[in-house]
Amino acid sequence: MKSLGCTEIINCCLTKIICSSDVSHIHYTITTSFPASPQFSSFSLTIKPSWSFFPLSVSVPKTSNFPETIWFKKFPFPFIMVKKIVKGPTGSSKVKEQWRKVYDGIAKMREGIEAPVDVEGASTLADQTLEPRLVRYQTLIGLLLSSQTKDPVTAKTIEKLQSRGLTPERMAEISVEDLAEEIYGVSFHNNKAKYIKKTSQILLEKYNGDVPNDFKKVIALPGIGPKMAHLFLQICFDRTEGIAVDTHVHRISNRLGWAKSKNPIETMKQLQELLPKKLWGEVNELLVGFGQTICTAKKPKCNECDIVKLCPYYKSKHKD
Ligand code: SF4
Repeated sequence: MKSLGCTEIINCCLTKIICSSDVSHIHYTITTSFPASPQFSSFSLTIKPSWSFFPLSVSVPKTSNFPETIWFKKFPFPFIMVKKIVKGPTGSSKVKEQWRKVYDGIAKMREGIEAPVDVEGASTLADQTLEPRLVRYQTLIGLLLSSQTKDPVTAKTIEKLQSRGLTPERMAEISVEDLAEEIYGVSFHNNKAKYIKKTSQILLEKYNGDVPNDFKKVIALPGIGPKMAHLFLQICFDRTEGIAVDTHVHRISNRLGWAKSKNPIETMKQLQELLPKKLWGEVNELLVGFGQTICTAKKPKCNECDIVKLCPYYKSKHKD
């Protein structure tokens, strides 16, 4: 049986097994006392170790060794087990048991290390002496510029823009070409110039030159993705509506087995299932700094890492 994730034996009884057959197949429909739940992707039923049903309604060829009638009372526990198949590694009981220990281990390591995100991250970019709407605007533009760009480059670019006037009024007026030149050095500077100009125009037309305190409205602005919108609301309005997942958070979550995902959106959903909401606001900065200094994309410094014994990625690379 191909497993989709981890399996856990749960306390439930079989209440019914209906068997029927046709010329070539035997059909089983199995009912358990355990109610269906959207948390579980499916169940498997093992009547004997070698007989696994997946899902609860199955047909097997008559040529297999499955019986045409099952008198399930004759198969007392432990031969009758119902296992819940959880959707992914975030449901793994080991991950659930250990995530807190791993999280605290990373937090402790981070206490002693200053990472670029701590001194040049999005929360540090705006000129705090300006009126609040401009502080919010500069934070948003900093987040937009920071996508796929190293923190020091973003910080330098924001400083350059601030020295020339980083306001929605000026950005709405400047030509895309001139703006692209001003932000040259950040990745995708041509696209980002278009996004900044358009976003600035929308903010002036719809929101009096301020950035709204609303996830849906922020994410609707050109060039603003879920990660930026979550970070923006957190920094500027102290609102946590989701976990901001960037490349560091995505990579590390997968290395730790907190997520098994192909993209940051999947990672965000899986992390939000695993971590309590009170941590959603801090996990981004924690893992970004950890990824910038120790759990780097290339050649992570596992010999300096305190959670090496709890790391599935390390174990998979050092099996011998
Ligand atoms: S052991 Fe290595 S891969 Fe695992 S979290 Fe630590 S640095 Fe990252």
